Amino acid sequence: MKTLAIDIGGTKFSIALFDGDRMVRRESRATDKEGGRDWMLEQIGILAALWQKETGFERCGIGFGGPVYFAEQRVALSTHVGGWQNFLLPAYLQQILGVPAIMDNDANVGALGEAIYGAGKGCSPMFYMTLSTGIGGGIFADGRIWRGADFYAGEIGHLTIRPDGPACLCGARGCFERVCSGLWLESDHGKTAKQLVQDPAFVSRYVIDLALGLKACIMLLNPARIVIGGGISKAGDALFAPLRAEVRRQITSWSGARIDLVPAALGDDSVLYGALALTEELEQK
Ligand SMILES: [Zn+2]
Repeated sequence: MKTLAIDIGGTKFSIALFDGDRMVRRESRATDKEGGRDWMLEQIGILAALWQKETGFERCGIGFGGPVYFAEQRVALSTHVGGWQNFLLPAYLQQILGVPAIMDNDANVGALGEAIYGAGKGCSPMFYMTLSTGIGGGIFADGRIWRGADFYAGEIGHLTIRPDGPACLCGARGCFERVCSGLWLESDHGKTAKQLVQDPAFVSRYVIDLALGLKACIMLLNPARIVIGGGISKAGDALFAPLRAEVRRQITSWSGARIDLVPAALGDDSVLYGALALTEELEQK
């Protein structure tokens, strides 16, 4: 079985071809903000049609960088690129590629990728968090993504961690994403997140806020493991060692919940592998 996997993010998109569960081709391109949705669809269409002709594939899985109404397979919106609102992306791809397609938001799809193929293998429930330009989250439990009543479960980025903190784009103050994500770190501190996490003095303050968000997740879900992906998670032990210690310090004293925090194992490919795993749900639809 060959599968086309698509990861549509805010700053780039990637597409991959899987033969079984082995990735055999992969392309990644920067997003053209001006071109919006139509430009991206054209790019994906050209690549996919070429691969369809050369190797063929039987199904397509998509991780989309924005909220998705899963039951209807409809994009709710993209906060980064215009023109996506209410778009039936899988139906469109199904029409141009002639294969069944399925989509979920990229945090859920990344969670699925890490749960089935990556650092979360064998862990249930597992919480996956992306820590990059923004912050997203996905809950994996009992062999599937737990999406919630309206498909908005796991949106940890807009938990309030600093009620008196800076204004977030969503209208609230001190959201987890506003305080801890890469985009804001850069504008608040004048350095890239990558540079900042190399500075132990910065990290010792940063992990306090990160732990506030993770504590909420641990108290609510008691996950067997938390997997953290996205660019900032690549800092390794320079970040993870102080983060584990800070979560341990903050967690309620009587809580016996484990603190198992690890970086994603699939690097930039969590969503692509997740899109592959997501196609298993095509049979249930
Ligand atoms: Zn917010």
